[in-house]
Amino acid sequence: MRKPLVAGNWKMHGSRQQLDSLLGGLIDGLSDNATAEVLVCPAFVYLHEASARLGDSAIELGAQNVCAQAGEGAFTGEISAAMLADIKCRYVIVGHSERRAIYAESDEQVAKKFVAAQAAGLIPVLCVGETLDERESGATEAVVARQLDAVLDEAGVAAFSQSVLAYEPVWAIGTGKTASPDQAQQVHGFIRSKIAEKDVKIAGLLRILYGGSVKPGNAAEIFAMADVDGGLIGGASLKVDDFLAIVRAAG
Ligand code: PEP
Repeated sequence: MRKPLVAGNWKMHGSRQQLDSLLGGLIDGLSDNATAEVLVCPAFVYLHEASARLGDSAIELGAQNVCAQAGEGAFTGEISAAMLADIKCRYVIVGHSERRAIYAESDEQVAKKFVAAQAAGLIPVLCVGETLDERESGATEAVVARQLDAVLDEAGVAAFSQSVLAYEPVWAIGTGKTASPDQAQQVHGFIRSKIAEKDVKIAGLLRILYGGSVKPGNAAEIFAMADVDGGLIGGASLKVDDFLAIVRAAG
């Protein structure tokens, strides 16, 4: 059984005050018997405070990015995976499409971040997904395969047993356009079958999240698809009631 995971990517939003009220609302609003695992990913500067605020609550903490270099050293402005682990982050998002598109992160850099995260004991949430042009030219599976292959080549399939994948069609992120449940299922099924070519057991246990304009009104139908194991939520995760409704839709 794959336990659903609902992750909030708060991106470059918020303030200390907003963080406090968001986390407080989530801690109060989540029932103890929620079946989905919940993860929040605030901006770096708020992670330490969020870690203390979450205390022993069941909500997990993650970062939105990590340095590809292991260990420490002269990498001005970077944050290492070990530093994230030190402040009790459990997850880190790697390869978000905004990092790939705006900061020109290559498939190879993303793969190195995946490896660096795992070396420090973090669980990478690896994002893959196609742009609108790529979808319209029929290249969706080729793009997703290329992004996955870069990580498979660098880390090996066994590493996927300690990771989460997120299918995030770029055209659906922050646009209000959501993939239909069938479109999501098709790519999730493709991702799982691609991992299964290398290891059926790991593929069967791998959680694959959907991300792209998930809202309380469309979450349940997307999460109901066979290969969708929860969501990576941007905009709607900044509103306590919406995020809680999405968590409930996941189980
Ligand atoms: C995201 O940032 O990963 C995301 C899916 O954003 P949104 O839910 O706002 O589309």
